[in-house]
Amino acid sequence: MRSIEHWIDGARTGGGPTLPVEDPATGRPVGEVALGRRAEVDAAVAAAARAAAAWAEVSVTRRARIMFAFRDLLDRHADELARLVTQEHGKVLDDARGEIVRGREVVEFACGIPRELQGDYSDQVSSGVDAYAFRQPLGVCAGIVPFNFPVMVPLWMHPIAIACGNAFVLKPSERVPSASNLIAELYAEAGLPDGVFNVVHGDRETADALLTHPDVAAVSFVGSTPVARHVHRTASEAGKRVQALGGAKNHAVVLPDADLDHAADQITAAAYGSAGQRCMAISAVVAVGAAADPLVARLADRARAVKVGPGAEPGSEMGPLIGRDALHRVTGHVERAERDGALLVVDGRGLPGPGHFLGPCLLDRVTPAMAAHREEIFGPVLVVLRVDTLDEAIALVNAVPYGNGTAVFTSSGAAARRYQREARVGMVGVNVPIPVPMAFYSFGGWKDSLFGDTHVHGSEGVRFYTRAKAVTSRWPDRPTLEPAAAMAFPT
Ligand code: NAD
Repeated sequence: MRSIEHWIDGARTGGGPTLPVEDPATGRPVGEVALGRRAEVDAAVAAAARAAAAWAEVSVTRRARIMFAFRDLLDRHADELARLVTQEHGKVLDDARGEIVRGREVVEFACGIPRELQGDYSDQVSSGVDAYAFRQPLGVCAGIVPFNFPVMVPLWMHPIAIACGNAFVLKPSERVPSASNLIAELYAEAGLPDGVFNVVHGDRETADALLTHPDVAAVSFVGSTPVARHVHRTASEAGKRVQALGGAKNHAVVLPDADLDHAADQITAAAYGSAGQRCMAISAVVAVGAAADPLVARLADRARAVKVGPGAEPGSEMGPLIGRDALHRVTGHVERAERDGALLVVDGRGLPGPGHFLGPCLLDRVTPAMAAHREEIFGPVLVVLRVDTLDEAIALVNAVPYGNGTAVFTSSGAAARRYQREARVGMVGVNVPIPVPMAFYSFGGWKDSLFGDTHVHGSEGVRFYTRAKAVTSRWPDRPTLEPAAAMAFPT
């Protein structure tokens, strides 16, 4: 049993009530996490505000150098981080290693921050006058993150915020807190000054204290749509810059001309990897015309073959759900879908405990009106809807309130091009099921999948964590050539 404390101003700090942290593969506690209250949030923000002032004065090359050191340490500790992720989240070790690599790529992008922060300069915009623009850090930025990527999602945020010259306060998910403390230690070892990166563990009360804190300038949030909406509204009202990424229902449209074996392989991995607990998981298939019957047969074969087991056990392809509550919610969706008239082709229920295991479930003949299609299930449940044409598929996808990711499987370039242009979704894959943009692009959905206007990481991340300043400057040295000061605008 470990005791998981906050990390404030470069040191472990207790404070607040505690909550058990569980291994979802066994259902047994592995530690206790402190839940920060206003006192801990105040202490972390005060430390961050003090550190931010000095950190913004540190040269951009030195900030980049610390990111290079941090990147190497992440690499060296990748296995340790992955084991913490698997123990508290349940995902299989290879998948945990993968999320660390994806997160590390954002650090690699942050290593290039001098290039990203280069300003603009215009010589002689008027006689003897130059104009230039550059970007400055905001001060204290906060991140509130979900349980499903304990390392990668925070890494979408803090390396860029910090490289831009801000200090950061992270509130991890209370279900998977340990990896963030190791990240804090690695930053310290990389030479980051105390107070630039802080971790306050906690729950919604902790999050709300950050959202309304007068010294927090910007909030990045990733989680479910109802909470994203609340975060966006509350922090915006408090005058902060906000990017709030919400939930998802991601569709794979499969046309009859697609390579159906390839599509079925890709969709199975995208639907059931991490037990479906990915914001970019494919959770719905839209089978067009003659694709439907052969595709469902292939998906069923592959779903039945998935090896479910503890994430740390060699050979497991899919681990448990995060908790008993999640298992209950997801199986409830399966039961309701059957009652609503869907056909349960593969039933993953009934696996033995005490871990929160649910095998892959496949529901066919789901209609857009059913809750199994309207709602985010966030578990290993793939639903299949059948339509006759690409037009109908596009209309179906566009009627969904979420707009995070989508994919089209086809051998027609024209059909793919039409889909990628007409889908009202932020991230589109063509024969690629999980189109997560690389770190040097930006990640973000549309509609109810993102509140605010900037996406995370890449150049949009840099824009979010900095504000622009434009300077107009004159250094008079030949007064006789200077135009006389005028009361009216110059014409
Ligand atoms: P969640 O919304 O329950 O929690 C996210 C964070 O918000 C946690 O840190 C939690 O402590 C905090 N929180 C919870 N309720 C709150 C409240 N009322 N007020 C303030 N803070 C609150 O999400 P989760 O269950 O941890 O994660 C799963 C969800 O995250 C899914 O909906 C998934 O789609 C979404 N997600 C989205 C993306 C994306 O990029 N769009 C990425 C990963 C996960």
